[in-house]
Amino acid sequence: MVTGWQVTPHHQDPVTAGLTGTASRHSPREPVIANGRTQPVRLRQGRGTLGVPAPEPCANHQDPVTTSHLTGGEPETVAKARTAARGRATRFKGDTVTSPASGGDLPDYAPIPRSALGPALNDQGYYVGRVERNLYYVTDGVYQSAFLTTPDGVVLFDAPPTIGGNLRRAVDEIAAAEGVSNRVTHLVYSHHHSDHAGASFLFDGDVTRIGHEETRRLLLRDNDPARPLPEVTFADRYTLQVGGERVELAWHGPNHSPDNIYIHFPDHDTLMFIDVVNAGWVPIYNTNLSEDVIGYMGAPDIALAYPWTHFICGHLGRLATRDDVAVHQAYIADIEASSKEALATVDPVPFYVAAGENAWAGVKAHLDAVTDRAAAPVIAKYTGVLAAADIEVFTRTTTFAIMQSLRLDSGPSGPVHP
Ligand SMILES: [Zn+2]
Repeated sequence: MVTGWQVTPHHQDPVTAGLTGTASRHSPREPVIANGRTQPVRLRQGRGTLGVPAPEPCANHQDPVTTSHLTGGEPETVAKARTAARGRATRFKGDTVTSPASGGDLPDYAPIPRSALGPALNDQGYYVGRVERNLYYVTDGVYQSAFLTTPDGVVLFDAPPTIGGNLRRAVDEIAAAEGVSNRVTHLVYSHHHSDHAGASFLFDGDVTRIGHEETRRLLLRDNDPARPLPEVTFADRYTLQVGGERVELAWHGPNHSPDNIYIHFPDHDTLMFIDVVNAGWVPIYNTNLSEDVIGYMGAPDIALAYPWTHFICGHLGRLATRDDVAVHQAYIADIEASSKEALATVDPVPFYVAAGENAWAGVKAHLDAVTDRAAAPVIAKYTGVLAAADIEVFTRTTTFAIMQSLRLDSGPSGPVHP
């Protein structure tokens, strides 16, 4: 649903201000669809993307948890198409169970909020959509990649193996429609993880690979032929200029991984930052499988310090919005607050007394009790707000990771023996 021209003031980037003397280059704004939904390039299934009303944008002073994602009144426009969630959820309650290995019945989970779902996939299992101007994103409903078409060739950002050969198809489709070269000349790694880079070997030949210097070091360690090393590396910042387009790469410290970078498209009003915020969904296990919990918790603030309207988060089917980042931050802040409360409230002594000489049994009982107490109210609050919040193991393991980081990194560690 095109809602008109969204004009965003071109703020100075507070993250990079003072670090670069580069003047901002302004470009005409494209009409976009509200709240991160983009102009579909091609729809194979008729009904779908254009018919999905976007949630009304909410005012900044409203609680993002209760305003941006409770969109139960949306028509079922995507429900019959092959959507991100439905395309993969092949078994439903009531199906015949053949064996646990086949997936079995799903528990009776809460419905996925319609606003958490992306556009319909085509028959080949992908969707390619315009983010803004000549910047596109590709999704298979679970993973996301992006590319920029230029007069000098295509710049690809990540190559998840689940999308795999469909990256080539998506690039070819758009290049043909735009009448530009389909030759991929550059490939940027967001970070070294195989699930986002494992199809990069498909693009060889004259491709210039670009990544953080830690990405190169980790890929050297991993020695995976599916992820060739980046030849161009940088420490803190790198400006990529291809065919008159500009992309700003920056590393602001470890978060999800030691090498995860921020990819800013200043002339496309877009930020790409992978594996921290899942648009409309809870993080999966252990703060989205993150290595640096403090860095993970602080990363959304850094992301929001950039000027952007569209956010490519790397997962699920749709683009993210600033509201999505705010809801994610509220979820993490609630976990942090309840973890502090639980650490301060749950008395460890009875658990260790009861465990006797089995000290590790005491550790388990104590930390399980703290995790239960901290996670339960968060699971209740976000069920129906963030998709899959009721899959309790995700919030419980993320709570455990944050609670451990509070104990080990920032405190409080718990009562001090008198
Ligand atoms: Zn990752």
